[in-house]
Amino acid sequence: MTRTSAPVDALIIGGGPAGLATAAALRQRGLHGVVLERSDGVGTSWRSHYDRLRLHTPRELSGLPGLPIPKEMGRWVARDDVVRYLELYAAHHRLDVRLGTEVRRVDRSPDLDSWIVTLADGTTLTAPYAVIATGFNHTPRPPDVPGLEGYSGEVVLARDYRNGSAHAGKDVLVVGTGNTGTELAVDLVEHGAARVRLAVRTVPHILRRNTGPYAAQYTGIAVRRLPTTFVDRVAPLVARLQTPDLSAQGMPRPDTGLLTRVERDNAIPVQDVGIIAAIRSGAVEPVAALRELDGDDVLLADGSRLQPDLVVLATGYTQGLEPLIGHLGVLDGKGRPVERGGRTARGARGLWFSGFTNPISGMLRELSIDARKIALAMALRKRREMKALRQAA
Ligand SMILES: Cc1cc2nc3c(=O)[nH]c(=O)nc-3n(C[C@H](O)[C@H](O)[C@H](O)COP(=O)(O)OP(=O)(O)OC[C@H]3O[C@@H](n4cnc5c(N)ncnc54)[C@H](O)[C@@H]3O)c2cc1C
Repeated sequence: MTRTSAPVDALIIGGGPAGLATAAALRQRGLHGVVLERSDGVGTSWRSHYDRLRLHTPRELSGLPGLPIPKEMGRWVARDDVVRYLELYAAHHRLDVRLGTEVRRVDRSPDLDSWIVTLADGTTLTAPYAVIATGFNHTPRPPDVPGLEGYSGEVVLARDYRNGSAHAGKDVLVVGTGNTGTELAVDLVEHGAARVRLAVRTVPHILRRNTGPYAAQYTGIAVRRLPTTFVDRVAPLVARLQTPDLSAQGMPRPDTGLLTRVERDNAIPVQDVGIIAAIRSGAVEPVAALRELDGDDVLLADGSRLQPDLVVLATGYTQGLEPLIGHLGVLDGKGRPVERGGRTARGARGLWFSGFTNPISGMLRELSIDARKIALAMALRKRREMKALRQAA
């Protein structure tokens, strides 16, 4: 990582793909962004994901601005290669990354001209602009059911799950039917779990990740701007052609539209990397939603009572932005930024966000687009402000 003494234009909070992409896009416009990363390496979230994870989006659509993912990393890039790529990326663009630098709070300066960032050690940094890139998947969100605190069985959060080798022979209940929950269920089966049940609250849309060389993400990009009702109507027809009916196994086709679920619930479709075959063969058994945990019992919405050896919670994340910027009035009712890309919220000029949407077109692609928009908006703002200063002098 490069440390330069050039004046700092922007403090970028978070050294994941969004923060690095923004820093690189700023550099390409002659702006100097300093990336503040709380951990001891870039791409921390990728370092701790489960072992079998590969990008669901193809290499050619997942690279960040100014450096494609190297071809030798393959089409579906493995977790460790994503980390390697992010390290390569920071070095290639000679990004100024300050590791071990946790930001606790972001404030506007009293003269409204700059942003003040307070670090965990109590010191402050100041720069004209700031970018929040602390991640959509920031804090694991446990399921909203009674009894979790007092549950006496073994519980693992998806964030802490590495692989199923420690769980061979166990009776496991996986809670959550997003990409992570379904993939962990398959992983448990492949590592010899005795029984794997999948608690289903909302039936997911399941798509094939790719049909031969054609990646589903291309369709995601194509339909993203189409009317929601149209996509919702067409998607079930495509699903019928692509994927078998799993109703008999307890996983009926969803009755909520595909794009409605993306827009309303931030629930992107599950990319099939083994879950269809696992459900079809009975290796993964869909069961009713989790209702309650009671001592060492697990109660499901259909009234059944289980005593699994292990419960895996893959129930999503919150963005954890309130302590950092909750006081600035820039978050919506769900705690997500009201503006994104090149736009800034009213009363918070000079503060941008990257990586806080979960679009059907792929998050890495989308945050790369946002990085370029932020860099352009910041360059224009800086030019305007310099001109105003010159005129005032
Ligand atoms: C399991 C999984 C698989 C995914 N697969 C794909 C895929 O195939 N294709 C795709 O396009 N997208 C995928 N995504 C979505 C998205 O691309 C990734 O989550 C990506 O890592 C998001 O980048 P980010 O920089 O916004 O957030 P993160 O990668 O989470 O990075 C945020 C960084 O901010 C740091 N940070 C947080 N708080 C602070 C603080 N207060 N001070 C300083 N630093 C802080 C963190 O340590 C972290 O390094 C996947 C997500 C998950 C969870």
